[in-house]
Amino acid sequence: MKLLEERIRRDGEVREEGAVLKLDSFLNHQMDVELFNEMGKEFFRLFGDEGVTKLLTIEASGIGIACIAGQYFNVPVLFAKKSRSKNIDPDVYSAPVVSFTHGGVNEVMVSKRFLERGDRVLLIDDFLANGAALDGLISIVEQAGATVVGAGVCVEKAFQSGGVRLRGRGVRVEALARIAAMNETGIQFC
Ligand code: 5GP
Repeated sequence: MKLLEERIRRDGEVREEGAVLKLDSFLNHQMDVELFNEMGKEFFRLFGDEGVTKLLTIEASGIGIACIAGQYFNVPVLFAKKSRSKNIDPDVYSAPVVSFTHGGVNEVMVSKRFLERGDRVLLIDDFLANGAALDGLISIVEQAGATVVGAGVCVEKAFQSGGVRLRGRGVRVEALARIAAMNETGIQFC
């Protein structure tokens, strides 16, 4: 998606010797809702004929994008929680997810009330790196006996392992921007 690539080139900051891309000015902290709207529309163009009944993302950065996309799909938007607050039902599907940005493991969970056997679930997230977040979400959908129709991510760092591995497992992964390589002097798209 040209619009997203241009924005990444303009505002992205490459960190951690080319491993991490900081997009705080429009995606991960301040949010550009107009751009989110274009991304939501694009996810619908890609997956709109898949009979999606629910969008599933993971807190926190996926939530804004999934909400906007949800308006195009006209289905409920669900997010996996990273901590067991007093508000969550005791009866949950859960999976461990290694955090790419913090290194620790979060037990992510979704209340059993909100996923059903017949659901056709589209996963949404901001970034795909090694695929741990999507692995966790896929596990949760499978525990519910529901179907993963695919994963829509805004940015795939194609030089990290998640995309190849998930596609190898047969998951349809669509990324709106795919980065082949990046360092402090520039970003190369696939
Ligand atoms: P994965 O689980 O695929 O290894 O990493 C994906 C998750 O880690 C995403 O939910 C995202 O929040 C975070 N993440 C991974 N790489 C980056 C990055 O380069 N920049 C930012 N801002 N977040 C990232």
